[in-house]
Amino acid sequence: MRILITGGAGFVGSHLADRLMLEGHEVTVVDNFFTGRKRNIEHWIGHPNFELINHDVVNSLMIEVDQIYHLACPASPPHYMYNPIKTIKTSSLGTLNMLGLAKRVRARLLLASTSEVYGDPEEHPQKEEYWGHVNPIGPRACYDEGKRVAETMCYAYAKQDKVEVRVARIFNTFGPRMHMNDGRVVSNFILQALQDEPITIFGKGLQTRSFQYVSDLVSGLIALMNSNVSSPVNIGNPEEHTILEFAEIIKSKIGGGSVISHVQAAEDDPQKRKPDITKARSLLNWEPKVPLDVGLEKTIQYFRNELNATKGTFQPNARKQIPGSE
Ligand code: NAD
Ligand code: UDP
Ligand code: UDP
Repeated sequence: MRILITGGAGFVGSHLADRLMLEGHEVTVVDNFFTGRKRNIEHWIGHPNFELINHDVVNSLMIEVDQIYHLACPASPPHYMYNPIKTIKTSSLGTLNMLGLAKRVRARLLLASTSEVYGDPEEHPQKEEYWGHVNPIGPRACYDEGKRVAETMCYAYAKQDKVEVRVARIFNTFGPRMHMNDGRVVSNFILQALQDEPITIFGKGLQTRSFQYVSDLVSGLIALMNSNVSSPVNIGNPEEHTILEFAEIIKSKIGGGSVISHVQAAEDDPQKRKPDITKARSLLNWEPKVPLDVGLEKTIQYFRNELNATKGTFQPNARKQIPGSE
């Protein structure tokens, strides 16, 4: 099959590209390198089945494909808040363009949506039927509402123009190839612990998250794309921890002298998050397989190597606000 991955040079997209290439498909990656890196997919450059296009999905794109995994969008809070207008354009105009493309070439489109469509949830765990609790004008709105309108557009194109859509509501995911300056909790805590720096907990750390390893997500995305399930499906690992517990787990795995430091809580930070994955289990026959412990080992090793490669020149604070800076 001819498969397009938008955002394919990013963290999740590059792992998806690896899996689809190994399955023998023709893979085209479209990316504007806002948070993605050529390095993540450089091992495929020159392969006859692989193509890389430097392109911003806010602009229209004319190619011929059978399936579209639409992942292009900054995903970490500091990255999507860095330029909120661009984040909104990417989710709205970018998704509109990819749906227009899907309609023209009769391709199936999978949207990488998010658990953020549930906002700061009043139901726990979150089922797909829950409509969410999102502040439409808060600092996270550019991302949350952007993804909500992207979902709305998918179903408008499905109804009006008979485009085949799949919507994956992805919960927190971690693994190798997360950006060093990603700013999300897993990369922050691991890098801090590896460098004996304070582990920064935003607020009391009693807020919860449920973390899935990236290879499980990739299996879930492929299963959903190739299923006949057109309504939204949660893809995540239901093992839930407080952020404080998570800091302790990482600290105990890495050792070292990091102390836990409580800093200012983030505005509108969802207080609880855990997917109900009954739907994915029953309709996709999918569930996460990689235990947190195993995923963390691989991710810690990855960041250890990255730190060695930058030979002590890594400066998180100086570069945190500049996504894409190498
Ligand atoms: P990432 O930032 O590593 O990857 C996003 C990719 O999209 C990058 O390569 C970036 O350069 C590219 N991109 C951004 N704007 C673009 C534009 N206008 N045109 C073309 N390319 C553009 O993030 P990720 O964690 O790999 O996330 C991938 C997708 O999965 C995103 O849509 C995100 O919203 C979704 N998601 C991720 C998680 C998670 O925990 N990783 C959770 C929920 C949803
Ligand atoms: N589009 C695209 N590639 C295509 C077809 C469409 O990028 O192969 C874009 C197109 O530029 C438009 C959007 O998708 O802005 C929506 O297309 P649609 O055909 O639904 O709407 P229209 O062009 O009629 O406004
Ligand atoms: N967080 C934290 N310290 C950090 C980064 C994040 O305590 O250095 C918290 C954050 O407030 C949130 C959780 O960890 O409650 C997950 O944050 P992340 O940015 O990874 O993703 P989110 O699920 O909020 O999009």
